Amino acid sequence: MSTSPRSGQVRPANAPTDQLSLRRANLSRTLGHLRVHGPRSRAAIAAGTGLHKATVSSLVDELLARELVRETGLEYSGSAGRPGRAVALHGAGVGALGVAINVDYIGVHGTDLAGRVLVERRIPFDATEGGPDRCVDALTEVIRRALDDLGDAGAVPVGVTVAVPGLVDIARGTVVLAPNLGWHDLSLGPRLTAALPAGLRVVVDNDANLAALAEHTYGVAAGSRDLVYLTGEVGVGGGVISDGRLLRGNDGFSGEVGHLPVDPAGRRCGCGRTGCWETKVGLAELIRAVTPDRAYGLDPEPLRVPEERVAELRRRLDDGDPVVSAAVAEVGRWLGLGGAILVNLVNPRVIVLGGYFATLAQWLVPAARPELDRLVVAGRAAHCRFVASDLGFTAAARGAAGVVVDRVIADPTSVGNPTHAVLPTTPAGSP
Ligand SMILES: [Zn+2]
Repeated sequence: MSTSPRSGQVRPANAPTDQLSLRRANLSRTLGHLRVHGPRSRAAIAAGTGLHKATVSSLVDELLARELVRETGLEYSGSAGRPGRAVALHGAGVGALGVAINVDYIGVHGTDLAGRVLVERRIPFDATEGGPDRCVDALTEVIRRALDDLGDAGAVPVGVTVAVPGLVDIARGTVVLAPNLGWHDLSLGPRLTAALPAGLRVVVDNDANLAALAEHTYGVAAGSRDLVYLTGEVGVGGGVISDGRLLRGNDGFSGEVGHLPVDPAGRRCGCGRTGCWETKVGLAELIRAVTPDRAYGLDPEPLRVPEERVAELRRRLDDGDPVVSAAVAEVGRWLGLGGAILVNLVNPRVIVLGGYFATLAQWLVPAARPELDRLVVAGRAAHCRFVASDLGFTAAARGAAGVVVDRVIADPTSVGNPTHAVLPTTPAGSP
């Protein structure tokens, strides 16, 4: 905390210190309020944010000029009040792009500021063929095409976030290690930035973390302050939201749950170690378990997105296939064991099952639950549930687009070209 010499009022150390940053913070507050509460009159925004009505009017004028909000029909703010025109989040001209690469696909999710989906695409892609250079080329091509599509939909792309199943140094845009992709110290962010249109901000982040943010914001666990998200892909990653915040750890490498060593006598993992959790519960392991003779039509050729392979597994479960049923039950037991480690460690309210875990949840959870109850030291006193994600394999790309939107909400002055004067005409930030 520090003390303002003029007012003598105590303010937080990170509070805005000048008029422009205060103005920016209030624009963000107004936009964030509309995002959460939907269309509202200026009077209702003032009441909800604690800002002066005159301040809100000025803020809304600027947001209108930046085309981040639009006016809708009339709204009555109270029985005695005059009707006010409601303002709604608009931002149809703002394009946010999320791209997720995994072992067997590239997923694309593009929205406008209000979250309207403008581009959604899943492309089968074997990321293990041809090395990292081919992956960078493919990502560049996919992103370029998505940017064109956003442009055709009338949105100006303001940023792209790329979700990667691995350890990411976010500040440098470097993928330190992505075992299942075979990437080491890949300078992905700078390479994409150099290949894509100038001015487009490129961010690289861990896929499970981005998916956890998506689940926390609008998935099945929306509003839950303590959750663990598990990617159910060829490998397995985790994103942890604790007390409402994403846990990143000292170097940003937290959540590597797929490499928890659970079986010293187990199979060698893509990371080079032995008996990692993902060698028990990853999709690659399940497919290996049910296709010892490749008799199940689950060969990697022709190239297919994972949903199609899992649909095949699901059909066989529905038919009561004993080999697939036994293999899925075994995965379920290991899922319960790993889940128990996570519950003992971070005590989440919900473990969100993503990717193929979600598709097969009705078979996995009954096998996982008894293991969880047996191994969690608090037993059922720890009120943790397994919940199947309804975002499926798209959670990471959605989360990736979401953080681009978050950045615009945090600083609305980063987009648009207002014709109005930016400087406030009313006392800035006056409550
Ligand atoms: Zn490993």
